[in-house]
Amino acid sequence: MADIIQLLPDGVANQIAAGEVIQRPASALKELIENCIDSGATEIQVIIRDAGRTLIQVTDNGCGMSPTDAMMSFERHATSKIRQAQDLFAIRTMGFRGEALASIVAVAQVEMKTKRMEDETGTCIRIEGSQLKDQSPCACSNGTSIAVRNLFFNVPARRKFLKSDQVEFRNLMEEFQRIAIVNPELSFSFYNDNRILYQLPVSNQRARLVNIFGAPYNERLVPVTEQTDAVRISGFIGKPQYARRTRGEQYFFANRRYIRHPYLHHAVEEAYQELIPEEAFPSYFIMLEVDPSNIDVNIHPTKIEVNFLHQQIIYTVIKAAIKKALGLHNLTPSLDFEQEPGLPFDPASHKGVIRQPSITLNPDYNPFNRGAAAGKPPEIRRQAVSGWEKLYDAHDQEPIDTSPIFQAHDLYLVSSVKSGILLVDQQAAHERILFERYILQFAQKRSASQQILYPQTLHLSPQDFELMASILAEIRHIGFEISEFGRNMYIITGVPAGMENQNIEELIDAVLENFKKNKEDLVQDKKINFARSLSRQQALKPGKKLSEEEMNNLIGELFACDAPELAPDGRKTFVILPFDELAQRFR
Ligand code: ADP
Ligand code: MG
Repeated sequence: MADIIQLLPDGVANQIAAGEVIQRPASALKELIENCIDSGATEIQVIIRDAGRTLIQVTDNGCGMSPTDAMMSFERHATSKIRQAQDLFAIRTMGFRGEALASIVAVAQVEMKTKRMEDETGTCIRIEGSQLKDQSPCACSNGTSIAVRNLFFNVPARRKFLKSDQVEFRNLMEEFQRIAIVNPELSFSFYNDNRILYQLPVSNQRARLVNIFGAPYNERLVPVTEQTDAVRISGFIGKPQYARRTRGEQYFFANRRYIRHPYLHHAVEEAYQELIPEEAFPSYFIMLEVDPSNIDVNIHPTKIEVNFLHQQIIYTVIKAAIKKALGLHNLTPSLDFEQEPGLPFDPASHKGVIRQPSITLNPDYNPFNRGAAAGKPPEIRRQAVSGWEKLYDAHDQEPIDTSPIFQAHDLYLVSSVKSGILLVDQQAAHERILFERYILQFAQKRSASQQILYPQTLHLSPQDFELMASILAEIRHIGFEISEFGRNMYIITGVPAGMENQNIEELIDAVLENFKKNKEDLVQDKKINFARSLSRQQALKPGKKLSEEEMNNLIGELFACDAPELAPDGRKTFVILPFDELAQRFR
């Protein structure tokens, strides 16, 4: 009988290998971006279409490739990153296995354009299912751009295993974030179906996290650093009070590679023990640096699981470093929270000394009936006097027609008044309005509630349960129908009118968080604290577009408040740039 063993054709071998390296669009994206990083790029652009099914394109301004290297790069086990077996123990690049591009071209239609700085022209290569379609010189900028189209076009089985677009897209984002987090010195942009989702400028570590996860993170993060012979630790952890009932952002990186490590995760949990409720999850972004010879990233092609030589030591160091960081935080809250200046609008950082208001108002002024409203409760005054009139009154006694208002950056309302230009902070103003409304409600009969269709249960940590219990009367007074419902649980059957369509769990969660924070700021009175917490949660947020009518109402209601100058926490709600000062500036 003839011999029957044969070597598989390269295309088939590559397709099999691809199964391990490229399971989904997100794995292709990861490999492509990692190559950009290894190429020394400083700017990386990602373009995604249809959750990566039809296009994943990654462009960098890195070293580029010569025409020969460009061809070679698609061969299996072709790499410029290691040369011999012992290099495996000194890996400082993201890649080294030389199989990513070979795997990607085995299962997609790929076009690569690449050029080195020293070359006049670049190279363009098209490969489909490992078959070379075209190679030609082309004009392109320095660096490399790889477009991966119709992933798994020739592997229907794998295509079928892809999840919904939503899930695949989430995976793409997650993969992108993992890389963007640890490379703050590189700029990234990320486009999805022609919309820009991320534009991340070069920055420091804290600013990168804030740019990815949002402005509120600025005040939630505590820096962690520690240096020992075995490991260098840096990064940030979330303050305990921000630990959530949903799994937070939990990231470990080893030598700038995202890793999963249940054992080290346990060290973090241990450090947070007793600081957060059992069912809550802390956030962490912890970067470990170890000598490359003490880490094995070779145990799986996706390199997400790694082995450390000094596992136990690292465990102990992580735990101690976090405890130290949290301890520092508890003892000296003002010392270590250097927040990032110039970051997106962060109302929480605008807190400050409460200054004497710059204008004085006559709260009882009524253009129609002077003095009549003086002794009446505030809500009657409010109806009697339009806020606009009062504002003008305060400045020169002479009401004028309302001037046009516009919204700047969906953040400030801009209008002109007799004496100058009026700038209103929409969030601060709305907080003031709501705050006074809630305070007023406490003085009145209990407010009506709106029954909700599906009663909601709230599962709280023991601490939050206690906290809720202590303000239950206030919560009910505002219009919530809420009762205890077993251990650490409440059931909500009605909400204040107007709140029916909100996510009640999130609402309560945020209000409780605010309440705790206010308490730290020594707001003792329960009613005031609750009114402040709820108005903070309910207020218009920066970025909210307002119609003309809404802007008018906001300003009208603001100046109808008893203390319109300041938000409940002391931030200014508006400023006026006087015309005479403006005139000075033009001199
Ligand atoms: P590995 O990254 O493990 O070396 P890959 O298959 O991902 O393997 O890439 C093969 C080779 O192609 C790399 O070693 C590198 O020399 C080259 N290469 C890939 N992408 C780029 C890029 N964006 N810029 C420059 N060179 C690249
Ligand atoms: Mg690679």
